[in-house]
Amino acid sequence: MNNECFEAARKEMVAIQLAGRGVKDKKVLVAFRKVPREFFLPEGLMRLAYQDRPISIGQGQTISQPYIVALMTELLGVEAGDKVLEIGTGSGYQSAILLSLGVELFTVERHLSLVEKARESVSRLGYDLRVKVSDGTLGWGEFSPYDKIIITAASPAVPESIKKQVKTGGRIVAPLGPRDNQQLTVIDKLGKNEFKSRVVCGCVFVPLIGKEGWDG
Ligand code: SAH
Repeated sequence: MNNECFEAARKEMVAIQLAGRGVKDKKVLVAFRKVPREFFLPEGLMRLAYQDRPISIGQGQTISQPYIVALMTELLGVEAGDKVLEIGTGSGYQSAILLSLGVELFTVERHLSLVEKARESVSRLGYDLRVKVSDGTLGWGEFSPYDKIIITAASPAVPESIKKQVKTGGRIVAPLGPRDNQQLTVIDKLGKNEFKSRVVCGCVFVPLIGKEGWDG
């Protein structure tokens, strides 16, 4: 596939898989039209970039289905300038979408090889990825508090460190529940120890492995 084919496939993906399924936020749709998903895939799998499914990126991990990335981005409700923490950098695709929305992004991933590849992919779009190789269940305390936190791996519950590191008035979006199927959940922080959760839909993510997540 050449660049023109990728661009046409990208436009069609946005129209059918995202807008067609109810993603409405114009800024989110524009970001998905701008960021080439093929940059975030292993070379041999680039032709699958705009298919309606998650794709393997190595280390047993996946780049999420475009619709889920878009839905989570819309639910997070970011404004340009927001300070955002992402747990589970993976391919860096979700990071690139958030960066293109103008947020100040910090992201944590436990696999070094994925971080190296993600940094390179994101840099092709002109962004410098602020990423740390670490256990993201502990958040990234140094730069907290964050306006919004997005967890892109499945957790039994929101880790306590993450709850602490989001601002009052801020929001967390995360897939929560059993290891093999979860519920995409929006958690608003109303006060220091006061949270309000809303379940959006069922979903399936790879596990969040760490001190405040699942055992490896
Ligand atoms: N946002 C990614 C989705 C990656 S899948 C994308 O757009 O491609 C989830 C990622 O979470 C995997 O890369 C996995 O290695 C990572 N992960 C799992 N447990 C983690 C932890 N405790 N800390 C940081 N990353 C973790």
